[in-house]
Amino acid sequence: MSGRLQGKIAIIAGAGQSAGETIGNGRAMAVLFARHGAQVLCVDRDLASAVETVAMIAEEGGSAAPFQADVSRDAGCAAVIAEAKSRWGRIDILVNNVGIGGGGDGPAHRAAEQAFDRILNVNLKSAWMTIKHVIPIMREQGGGSIINISSLASLSGSNQVAYEVSKAGMNRLTTSVANANASHGVRCNAVLPGLMDTPMAISGIAAGIGSTTSAVREARNARVPLRGKMGTAWDTAHAALFLASDEANFITGVLLPVDGGMAARVG
Ligand code: NAD
Repeated sequence: MSGRLQGKIAIIAGAGQSAGETIGNGRAMAVLFARHGAQVLCVDRDLASAVETVAMIAEEGGSAAPFQADVSRDAGCAAVIAEAKSRWGRIDILVNNVGIGGGGDGPAHRAAEQAFDRILNVNLKSAWMTIKHVIPIMREQGGGSIINISSLASLSGSNQVAYEVSKAGMNRLTTSVANANASHGVRCNAVLPGLMDTPMAISGIAAGIGSTTSAVREARNARVPLRGKMGTAWDTAHAALFLASDEANFITGVLLPVDGGMAARVG
């Protein structure tokens, strides 16, 4: 272990993953953070999936604990922060990775009201509420690093208005929190993944449109400028590792695309 997060306490909300062939963003971050010496609270509403992540970490000799919570509810967010604080006495890193889409989302003229409320609640309100509960602890410690997993869809796209708006809100949440807490040494940054080869994206989309995972993969790969290939959850995890570490000590309020050049391409 190279110890880029040695001795740090990290919470990852959404540290389980959807079923599928590859690894999800939250699980990859949990495993990578533990490899670098962090103790990780693996939070998910799906406890079995969080337990699976913890088992992967334990197998490599790392340290982690599972915790079940629904972060779309304030009580769930409060319980997550209280658990980490009582278990380890401090919280150095909070990653808001929980994110959902689909289920009635669509372009603005078609999206369903219930889908809009559900997606905004789960993706955006949850991140704000975990931040609300962790800020007093990080301020008292004199520092901390918060990382919001947004999406390139926060900047472009037009077929899933609720998802896009929720992630755009996450970007502004990031800069707002960065500004309000800079004098206290609390940093807040966002990672904006582009097209990634994760189970939620590949198996989720394939099931949603009635296609095969290989057809979805091929179509997504063709849209990526860099090498014509999607990124993986490890690409998201390495960006988050940097932002979580002291190497990013002078970086706050940044919205970092991890997208193989998609944000740079116009037309
Ligand atoms: P994933 O579905 O594998 O992981 C998300 C986890 O969050 C799941 O384990 C799920 O059980 C958990 N979760 C959902 N609702 C919850 C709730 N209310 N409370 C607690 N846990 C809850 O997804 P992933 O593909 O790894 O994506 C993770 C993040 O990355 C999401 O925020 C997503 O929007 C973002 N992202 C993904 C891609 C991509 O291409 N995969 C691209 C851009 C952004």
